[in-house]
Amino acid sequence: MATKKPTELRNDAYLSDTLIERLDLWYKEFSPVTPTENKILSVIRGDQGYSVDSLAVLLSPEAAPFLEEMAVVAKSKREKFFGNAIKIFAPMYISNFCSNGCLYCAFKADNRIVRKQLNREELLAESQSLASTGIRQVLVLTGEAKRLTTFEYLRDSIKEMDTVFSSVAMEVWPLKKEQYEELVEVGLDGLTLYQETYNREIYAVQHPYGDKSDYLWRIEGPDRACAAGIRSMQIGALIGLDDYRCELGAMAIHLDYLCKKYPDVEMSISLPRLRPIVNSDLQVDHPISDRLYAQILLAFRILFPHVGITLSTREDERMRNGLIPLGVTKVSASVSTAVGEHTDKASDEQFDIADERSVDEMCSWLEANGFQPVLHDWHSKLTRSVG
Ligand code: SF4
Repeated sequence: MATKKPTELRNDAYLSDTLIERLDLWYKEFSPVTPTENKILSVIRGDQGYSVDSLAVLLSPEAAPFLEEMAVVAKSKREKFFGNAIKIFAPMYISNFCSNGCLYCAFKADNRIVRKQLNREELLAESQSLASTGIRQVLVLTGEAKRLTTFEYLRDSIKEMDTVFSSVAMEVWPLKKEQYEELVEVGLDGLTLYQETYNREIYAVQHPYGDKSDYLWRIEGPDRACAAGIRSMQIGALIGLDDYRCELGAMAIHLDYLCKKYPDVEMSISLPRLRPIVNSDLQVDHPISDRLYAQILLAFRILFPHVGITLSTREDERMRNGLIPLGVTKVSASVSTAVGEHTDKASDEQFDIADERSVDEMCSWLEANGFQPVLHDWHSKLTRSVG
């Protein structure tokens, strides 16, 4: 019997046909705008919130000279919606086996790197080691090798980590709705699922083989997770694969769609820039300068004031220190992108990190600059029955 492709498993009763139509229209009709100074200032100072047009104005090169004006408004919105709290989390890689071929990732199947998957004892030791740094919110990551890193392995790992951490989120391959429900039941409360690029043609080039080449299955993952009862959802695009204005316009359409459809889910975004990877001289087709990166972050803070923004260690200490006051709500610390790094490094990294500060160092910097570092603001057991 032929195996069904993931897309053939779609349940049209709750999935995102309207989103797909809106994105297709966006790519068909996209053209860069050239706003006037008056128009830019009215979007910055106005309070009309997100629209496709307002985002296009703030992302335009014509808005670049108004970074200071944008920063003032972004800072006040950050303070209004999030106060001085900055959440701190750490990623924990539990397997880097992968059967996909994403061109931008060191874990791709045809890259000759050291591979590792934590067994149960290693997982517990790694979790306890990470928790000893003060981390209570963890993001568990794997590659996509479903015959080795099975759903059951993932479920049991989350269950184990739930005994150590107060919040367990994950960044893994897209699952079925019933699988998300099962994971929520054992302690999962957050999901990160980046589309990487919303441009279907570039997506096909960047994901030449493996299950991840199924664009629709991936883009509908957040829908399935939100419908399954996930508490917090984070989406994002890997900036640098496509023209940034086109890419981020599409990402904003996705974000706006999710915010309106699932108002009870805590929504956040991340804006990862491409980083160097092991065994590859990765080419960035659409490089983003530091100044432009700041403009992008400010635009999203102004137009989506209630949405969390996570800033990862793909950005260096200088950039993170500069951007946190202007719009960031969550940062990572004590980061490694290798499997088992917190106990005994056993694999290669997914990408080079640019800010190596520990949890203590990150907390000290935040406190010295008037912020409240938040390691623990949630316990997943509060909203479910635990046996
Ligand atoms: S991005 Fe994820 S799916 Fe793609 S190669 Fe890397 S680990 Fe595998």
